[in-house]
Amino acid sequence: DLALDVTRVRRDFPILERQVHGKPLVYLDNAATSQTPRQVIETLDHYYRHYNANIHRGLHTLADEATAAYEQTRDSVRDFINAADRREIIFTGGTTEAINLVANSWGRANLKPGDEILISQLEHHSNIVPWQLLAEQRELVIRVIPVDEQGALDMSAYRDLFTERTRLVAVNHISNAFGTINPVREMAAIAHAHRALILVDGAQAVPHAPVDVRHIDADFYAFSAHKVYGPTGVGVLYGKAELLEAMPPWQGGGEMIRTVSFDAGTTYAAIPHKFEAGTPPIAEVIAMGRALAWVDDIGIAMIGAWEQKLLRHATERMMRIDGLRILGTAPHKAGVISFVVDGAHAQDIGLLIDQLGVAVRTGNHCAQPLLQHFGVEATCRASFAAYNTLEEIDIFVEALERVIGMVR
Ligand code: PMP
Repeated sequence: DLALDVTRVRRDFPILERQVHGKPLVYLDNAATSQTPRQVIETLDHYYRHYNANIHRGLHTLADEATAAYEQTRDSVRDFINAADRREIIFTGGTTEAINLVANSWGRANLKPGDEILISQLEHHSNIVPWQLLAEQRELVIRVIPVDEQGALDMSAYRDLFTERTRLVAVNHISNAFGTINPVREMAAIAHAHRALILVDGAQAVPHAPVDVRHIDADFYAFSAHKVYGPTGVGVLYGKAELLEAMPPWQGGGEMIRTVSFDAGTTYAAIPHKFEAGTPPIAEVIAMGRALAWVDDIGIAMIGAWEQKLLRHATERMMRIDGLRILGTAPHKAGVISFVVDGAHAQDIGLLIDQLGVAVRTGNHCAQPLLQHFGVEATCRASFAAYNTLEEIDIFVEALERVIGMVR
């Protein structure tokens, strides 16, 4: 049996022992942020107790140790997403900053008025707004890849959207709002056939499925540590080396230069450092490395398979609730269930179910265009991680039934 040892997994998460309103915590808001295993917490603690120092500059022992651990994470990330070269891994503040980096560096250097960018109806605001800002500055055209009624991308419409002016496709790998898994490898091949690049927002994919940026043939790939059992404030931009090398710096400051002169001008460091201006989140980068090692230890395929089991069980039980409608029913989806209930506001469900110890997300999930398309302002969303159990799903569904009975 391929079942994940969830009892063992749960032992690594001290927060799962806490109570909320006198009830055991059932944490089902993993698409917003995942909880942190003690190994990651200990890595942060160990850093500040033993070798806190600024990196890449000091010659002293602490600086050496911090630099080595920081750069070690670059190798771990390279390995984790199967990039060809460690110089293709840029540390950022998260997915949002990674996308803004591409928009501001690659976008400003390469896009001209009338050029076109394709984004999908499924995008998180962080993969919409940076392109809108750039479109305003550069007079670009943004076209939207539509979704079908199940919340899957319409691939034939996608093919039809390309024109001579299409320069970039920006799409998520897995939708945070609906859980839809997008065929990004196929989408990349189509983009490349039209000589366009593809940026993949992998914030919801890296925690739930094996990701291979070379197999996908992504030009850029972004994710955040805090959704994959790591700390907040740090993430990754992967970019193909030849693209990154040709791109101008975005943020200027220390670390990203080779020489600075008032007379002779400034020259820039080679990649990846060209894109890492200032003191980075050193402790967090190192702890992200530990988080990825933790995931490797369990096995990402094992985690994904377990979450599919949770998804099936939850979906089956929820479909039996009268008046409950699940939004996002694509055949390929990850452990995310977005739903609305007749006669009950999402907000009320969220607040009341919290009283029973269950944490779900309510609102628009930073995907207003998607929710508008489906004619709703808010949904409740339950999303799963490695430490969730079938018993927790039962507690959640029973709590949901109780809450619906109260508000109707
Ligand atoms: N894209 C997707 C698909 C996401 O789920 C999120 C986080 N909800 C983001 C981007 C933004 O990530 P961050 O806030 O960590 O920058």
